[in-house]
Amino acid sequence: MKYVDEYRDQELARTVAAAIAAEVDHGRSYHFMEFCGGHTHAIFRYGVQDLMPENVHFVHGPGCPVCVLPVSRLDDAVELAERHGVILCTYGDMMRVPDTKQRNLIRAKADGADVRMVYSTLDALRIARENPDRQVVFFAIGFETTTPPTAAALKAAEAEGLKNFSVFCNHVLTPPAISHILQSPEVRDLGIVKIDGFLGPSHVSSVIGSRPYEFFAEEFQKPIVIAGFEPLDVMQSVLMLIRQVNEGRHEVENEYIRVVTEEGNFKAQALVSEVFELRKSFAWRGLGIIPKSALRVRDAYADFDAEKRFELSVKASREAKSCECPSILRGVKKPTDCKLFATVCTPQNPIGSCMVSPEGACAAYWTYGRFREQQPSKLEPAE
Ligand code: SF4
Repeated sequence: MKYVDEYRDQELARTVAAAIAAEVDHGRSYHFMEFCGGHTHAIFRYGVQDLMPENVHFVHGPGCPVCVLPVSRLDDAVELAERHGVILCTYGDMMRVPDTKQRNLIRAKADGADVRMVYSTLDALRIARENPDRQVVFFAIGFETTTPPTAAALKAAEAEGLKNFSVFCNHVLTPPAISHILQSPEVRDLGIVKIDGFLGPSHVSSVIGSRPYEFFAEEFQKPIVIAGFEPLDVMQSVLMLIRQVNEGRHEVENEYIRVVTEEGNFKAQALVSEVFELRKSFAWRGLGIIPKSALRVRDAYADFDAEKRFELSVKASREAKSCECPSILRGVKKPTDCKLFATVCTPQNPIGSCMVSPEGACAAYWTYGRFREQQPSKLEPAE
């Protein structure tokens, strides 16, 4: 397959692995956080960790959009569907995340709520057109990658004069979360998480470019390499990070040059900034409240803002008892540190959000990592 197989080539992988082995300083250890859930998935799927020297470690960050949505926002979505009787449209993974009562949107649908899985915002718009007598709400989640399609849907709804379409906006921003991880008092107090550098997100960076990371590479003196999602992308990026660490550099480098530029996608950025504005703060699952880390619908598009159109009751939400998702999303603990992992909590019966999406650390451990000791290292997918 052109442009995919090249990045899964086993001979090349062995060459890069040998270069990494030759360049690591065996007198120290290296801890690299992959912020993006897509990287977590790739690391486990292709056994990249097995190709690393023993002193190179991956720390799994909070880059899975399903995992970082706080339970309170999911409770709100359930309320929109059940109490307000809207047609609630959302992406598939979101339907399986447990809410405060350990129900989820699939269960709400089974109990009579009109919840529909969509593949794109275009599906949600189509449903609104087909059901002019019903209110249709798109439950929007995700980082900078999924934000432009939501903005485009809002603009289309306005242009068409759709009166029954709105967005429940939960879009979050990557750079503030990375900064928060580096300076959060919890992580400093625990003193457990050691991060020597970051694998920067790839899809997110295709929209925002590499420049937004320069501030904290300098401020926190951590190297960042924007990495593609294929196994060779990840390995080459690790090699670039190791070189920076060894040389005492802390720069933003771009391994994913076939997609990411310094400036990013201007058209997408302009679209997002026309429709959305920064929230003063937003509560992230596992990370707590982070200033200026999420978006809300601008007043100019208030008619399409579900938070303004519907009155949502304020309720006390809580995480599942014993679920370690908050610590896992901070990189403080690993999924196997959770006593529910692979016992009560599995992808078929997720107790926390990290077990829901394939990009969640717990689901990745379950699917690819749990049997590592019994399997030889290999580059072919473990399917
Ligand atoms: S294994 Fe399940 S309960 Fe434990 S941290 Fe992961 S998602 Fe939460």
